[in-house]
This record gives sequence, structure tokens and C-alpha cells, in this order.
Amino acid sequence: MQRKRFIAGAVCPQCQTQDTLAVGQEEQVEVVTCVKCGYRQRQSDPPPAASERQGEGIIGIFHPD
Ligand SMILES: [Zn+2]
Repeated sequence: MQRKRFIAGAVCPQCQTQDTLAVGQEEQVEVVTCVKCGYRQRQSDPPPAASERQGEGIIGIFHPD
């Protein structure tokens, strides 16, 4: 059984497409794969993009008058 979860906002370093990167488990190691171009990166390597946290601080900002 293979589980994959997409990384919201992540850009593939190879084809430069957004929201095509998915994280899956292979041999006990998390592997990031691009569903568009087939790019693969093991989790032990540097992350492809740090944009996963993008917008995180914005959601919490709320200023009631
Ligand atoms: Zn790609």
C-alpha cells in the first residue's frame, strides 16, 4: 500500500511546476516525487522548497476593530 500526500505550495526544482510534489514512503524513507516530470528526492537530501509553510503566519492575523 502506498500513501502519498501532496506538498501544498511546493515547486518542483526540476520542472518548476507548483503543487506536483508528493511525499511517499519507500523503504522506510520519505521520498518526495513530482507527479509531472518524475523528479525524485529522498528526505535525507535538502528540501526542494521551503514554501510548505507559506501563508502560515497570514492565516492567524485578525484585527477586530
Ligand atoms: Zn517536476
